[in-house]
Amino acid sequence: MNVTLLGSGEMTGVPPMFTDLESIGAERRRRRPGLLVETAAATVMLDVSPDVREQVLEAQIDTLDAAFVTHFHHDHAGGIDDLGLLVPHVGTDVRMTETAISHLRNEREYLVDDIDVETIQHGDQVTVGDLTVVPFPVAHGRPEFDTVGFAVYHEGTKVVYAPDVERFCPDRPAGAEYRDADLLFVEGSPILQEDLYDEIDFVEIVGEAAADRTVLVHVNEFFDGPTETMVETAEEHGFELGQDFETYLG
Ligand SMILES: [Zn+2]
Repeated sequence: MNVTLLGSGEMTGVPPMFTDLESIGAERRRRRPGLLVETAAATVMLDVSPDVREQVLEAQIDTLDAAFVTHFHHDHAGGIDDLGLLVPHVGTDVRMTETAISHLRNEREYLVDDIDVETIQHGDQVTVGDLTVVPFPVAHGRPEFDTVGFAVYHEGTKVVYAPDVERFCPDRPAGAEYRDADLLFVEGSPILQEDLYDEIDFVEIVGEAAADRTVLVHVNEFFDGPTETMVETAEEHGFELGQDFETYLG
């Protein structure tokens, strides 16, 4: 299984508009969230960011079997317009939760005829070629957004993608799927900004996920400090800082 990070940034991207890399201490650009998982039999994208066109071209993706959306916030789903127009030609299965589909219907009515969106439920085991994708609930933007993370299984390897979370929900059905991954991509800002959530120890929360390798994403030098400091803070906790278009497995 090849795993490529398509976007390690959060809402505004890096650099945000009206700034430059140098002024915010960023060494490289960060696109909005996305992960590419590829095997010989399947190509899957997790999240469809507003940067999707650039991400697909840069990563040289020439076919896409399925796209899964964590939730319908703009940074995770804003590329649905670009993808939607091409879905009838590429045949991509688009899958999202019921609340995301309802946002799609209300906000992008013109796309509904082009995309045959399928609903995902917590704990579903969705087969795409030789991959199994399992959506699990996380705490973020509820109840308007039933935000999920995804566990992706392939030949005994487990990759977890949970880029936008305040907490995990281990007591809800399938809520413990975030645990015990070989490779975890997880929200990094609350770790890099100590005072972001006063009442939550996010390092402990991510530590409890007990992944072999943890990569922090959904970060932004504009808010989280210069790249160098972000790397140091991540490493202090035994984590890594994500980088766009880096391949993490394969
Ligand atoms: Zn969000």
